[in-house]
Amino acid sequence: MDRPDTMRVMLLVEQGKELVNTRLPVPCPGQGQVLVRVKACGVCRTDLHIMDGDLTEPKLPLVLGHEIVWEVVEIGEGAFGLAPGQRVGIPWLGWSCVNCAFCQNEQENLCRQARYTGYQFDGGFAEYTVADARYCFPMPEEYSDAEAAPLLCAGLIGYRSYCMCGNEVKRLGLYGFGASAHIIAQIAVHDKMAVYAFTRPLDETKQKFAHTLGAVWAGGSDELPPEPLDAAIIFAPVGDLVPAALQAVRPGGVVVCAGIHMSDIPSFPYSLLWEEKVVRSVANLTRRDGEELLLLAPKVPLRTSVQTYPLEDANQALDDLRQGKLTGAAVLIP
Ligand SMILES: [Zn+2]
Ligand SMILES: [Zn+2]
Repeated sequence: MDRPDTMRVMLLVEQGKELVNTRLPVPCPGQGQVLVRVKACGVCRTDLHIMDGDLTEPKLPLVLGHEIVWEVVEIGEGAFGLAPGQRVGIPWLGWSCVNCAFCQNEQENLCRQARYTGYQFDGGFAEYTVADARYCFPMPEEYSDAEAAPLLCAGLIGYRSYCMCGNEVKRLGLYGFGASAHIIAQIAVHDKMAVYAFTRPLDETKQKFAHTLGAVWAGGSDELPPEPLDAAIIFAPVGDLVPAALQAVRPGGVVVCAGIHMSDIPSFPYSLLWEEKVVRSVANLTRRDGEELLLLAPKVPLRTSVQTYPLEDANQALDDLRQGKLTGAAVLIP
C-alpha cells in the first residue's frame, strides 16, 4: 500500500488552546509497531480533559484521539499478529511494561509505566498513526468504521465500570447519558437489568434517547429514582454527583466513578456512605476488557449512535461534546 510523505492532522500545540489544522510527516513504525491509515476516530471526554489541562502529562505537540478504527498499512520490525489491509482498533492503553506486579496480576491498567494513545503517543485525529501491534484489537465485522469507534473507549471504560458494579445488580443507575451510558444501557438491558438514566436536569432529548434504549426511568440528576438502586455508574465529570448517587443506592450498593477526571467531590454526611455502601473509581482498561467487550458487542447486539464530522471539524465536535449537544458519540472521519 502506498504511503504519502505527509498527512493532515488536527494538532494540540498548547493546552488551553484549540486544535490547529496542519500537516506533519507520516510516521515510520518503530520496533513492534504498525503504521495504520485512520478510517474513523471517536471523540472522548478525556480529549477535552487533555485539551483543557485537567490532565497534566501530555506530550506536546500532540495528536489527540484514542478510539481509532484503522487499516494496517505497514508492519514494523518485530510486530506480529497483524496483516496489511486488516481492520483493527486501537484504544487508550497503548503500552505497558508487562513485568511489574500490576501487569503480572491482570492490572496493566494500573501499570506505573503505561503509555496512553492520544496522550503520550500521537493518536487518531490524523490520517495516519503508528501503534504497538500487541495493544490492537481485531474489530467485529458487524460494525462500520464510524459505528465501531465508540466501542474502543466509551464502550471499554463503560464495560469495565459495569463489571465493577458486582453480580447482584437488578437496578442500575447511569449518571450522564452520553457515549458510554448509551452503550452500557444496552448491555444492562440485555442482562435483564432495569436501567435508570440521570441526565442534566430538564434535558428531555437525552431522557427520550434513554427510553428508546430501554431505560425504565429517566430524569434529572437532581432527582431521586422511584426505587433505590443496587448500583450506579457516574460518567459525567461532576463531583456533586457522588453524594447524589450515594443517596440513590440501597445499603450495600456500589457507586462507580468512570471518568479519568472529576471536579472536586463536596463533603457529605457519613450517613450517605454508612451501611456498607461503596464508592470506587475505574482507571483505563486492560486488553482483556477489550477482548471481552468486542466479543459481547455483536451478541447483544450493541448499536452505537454516532454523529460524524470531517477531521477538520474536530474543534466543533469537541465543542458539541462539551456543550452536551451530542446524542451518542462524535466520530471524526479523515
Ligand atoms: Zn507494568
Ligand atoms: Zn476515552
